[in-house]
Amino acid sequence: MAIHIPFDNSYARLRGPFHDRVLPTPVSAPHLIAVNRALAYELAIDADSLTTADGLAVLAGNSVPVGAEPIATAYAGHQFGNFTPQLGDGRAILLGEVVDRSGARRDIQLKGSGPTVFSRRGDGRAALGPVLREYIISEAMAALGIPTTRALAAVTTGDRVQRETALPGAILTRVAASHIRVGTFQFLAARGDVEALRQLADHVIARHYPDAAGASNPYRALIDGVIARQADLVARWMLVGFIHGVMNTDNSAVSGETIDYGPCAFMDAYDPATVFSSIDRQGRYAYQNQPGITHWNLVRLAESLLPLLDADQQTSIAQANAALGAFPDYYETAFLAGMRSKLGLMTALPNDLALVQNLLDCMAANSADFTLTFRHLSDALDGDATPARDQFIDPQAFDRWAEAWRVRLTEEPQHDAGRAGAMRRVNPLFIPRNHRVEAAIEAAVTRQDFAPFEALMQVLSRPFDDQPKLRAFAEPPPADQRVFQTFCGT
Ligand code: AMP
Ligand code: MG
Repeated sequence: MAIHIPFDNSYARLRGPFHDRVLPTPVSAPHLIAVNRALAYELAIDADSLTTADGLAVLAGNSVPVGAEPIATAYAGHQFGNFTPQLGDGRAILLGEVVDRSGARRDIQLKGSGPTVFSRRGDGRAALGPVLREYIISEAMAALGIPTTRALAAVTTGDRVQRETALPGAILTRVAASHIRVGTFQFLAARGDVEALRQLADHVIARHYPDAAGASNPYRALIDGVIARQADLVARWMLVGFIHGVMNTDNSAVSGETIDYGPCAFMDAYDPATVFSSIDRQGRYAYQNQPGITHWNLVRLAESLLPLLDADQQTSIAQANAALGAFPDYYETAFLAGMRSKLGLMTALPNDLALVQNLLDCMAANSADFTLTFRHLSDALDGDATPARDQFIDPQAFDRWAEAWRVRLTEEPQHDAGRAGAMRRVNPLFIPRNHRVEAAIEAAVTRQDFAPFEALMQVLSRPFDDQPKLRAFAEPPPADQRVFQTFCGT
C-alpha cells in the first residue's frame, strides 16, 4: 500500500547552511510498536496505511515516501552553559513538512534513523528505552494541553545499539511545529552569516509569528513573540511539576513547544530543588531554575539576532534588553494565573501570590505529592479533606493553609457550584509517574512486553478524568519504587 503523505518542505527549500541532504540508513527487521491514530488524522495521513508493510518501511527509514526531502538540520547550542558552534541533527532526519487539517505546518522527523554529517562520534541511532520515554511523555504533555512535539509512531529496528550495554534499537517518528531551535540562530550568528540569519528569521516569522511581519521592527517583534511563548511554556511546566532536564539552547524550540525529551520527569513529592538527570550534577536544570534558564536561553536568542535588530549596535542592544526585560513579568503573570485556576480562584486579589507560596512552602516542608495535593483540593471543596490532608506529613499544616484558602474563596463573586469541577479540569489526576514509565520501558526492553506501555498511554490520554479502575496509576511510587535518577541514554 503506497504511503501518501502530502509533503510541502519549506525548510528544505531554504538555500544556505541550514541543512544537509541525507537518507535514513535502513534497518534489518523493523517492527511496529505504536501508531498514533489521532495524530495521523490531524495530519491527514491514513493511519491504516502506516500499519502496513509499506508504512512500517517508511517509519523505519527503509523507504523514503514520495515527496519527502530528507535533511539533517544544522544548529549550535549551549550545553550546560558551554557553547558548541556546531551540533546539528546527529541522529534525526527531517523527512519533510505537511500542512495539517487545521492549516498548521508540521515537521515529520525520524529520530534514531542513522548517521548524518552531524553525528560526530555517535551512531545516529536511538535505544528503545529513550524512544518509549519520549513517546509516553510527549503524548502525556499534549493531553495535559501543554505545547509539545508529538509522537506519530515508534518502531523497533531489529538491530542492537551499543550504549553501556547492547540495547534494542528503535525509531521515533516525531511531529513538531518546526525543529528550529534557539541553537539554530546561534549556529548562523556564530558563523557571522547575517544573510542566512535574516533568511532564518524571515522563515520563522512567516511560519510561527506571522503578526511580527507587520510590526515596525519585525525582528524585535519576533524576539518579543518567542519570549512570550517560552514564558508561557515554562509556566505550564511549573504548574504540572514537569522537569525538562536538559534545557540546553539546542533543546529550546522557537515555536514555543517542549522539545527533546531526554532525562525529563515529573515530580512526585514537591521539592523545588528536584533534579532527576544523571548528567545534571550541579542542578543547573533543577525544577526551580527552569524559568531563569528559559530567560538565559532567550538572552542567547536575542544576542544572536542583534545584527538584524538595528544597523547601530547600541540601538540593537537596547532593543534586545527591552524585549528581554519583559520576561519576568510574562512568566510571573502566566504562573500566577495558572495557580489561581488550580486553586479555583476566578478573580485576582493582591495576596494571591502569598497564598500560593504558602501552600508550596507547606507542601515542600511536608513532602506533599505535587499532583495529588492540587487534585484533591477539589475533594476538599466537595467536603472530603482527607485525601488532600493525607499528602502532608503534618496534616494540620494543610488545615492551617486550607483555612486561609477558604477565607479567600469567600471573596470570590460566584458561588462554589462548579468550582471543584473546574479545578479538576486544570489539576490532572494522572501524570506519567516515573516508576510507571520505568516499568513500561523495562517490560518492553527486557521482555518485549508492550502491554504496560499501552496501558500507560491509555490512562495518560485522559489525565483530567477520573478513571476509577485505573486509580493505581495516579498513586505516587511505593518507597521501594521511587526513581531518583533518569538518563538520556544517547
Ligand atoms: P541531545 O542533547 O540529546 O538533544 O543531543 C545533543 C547533540 O548530540 C545533538 O546534536 C544530537 O544530534 C547529538 N546526538 C545525540 N545522540 C546521538 C547519537 N546516538 N548519534 C549521533 N548524534 C547524537
Ligand atoms: Mg537535542
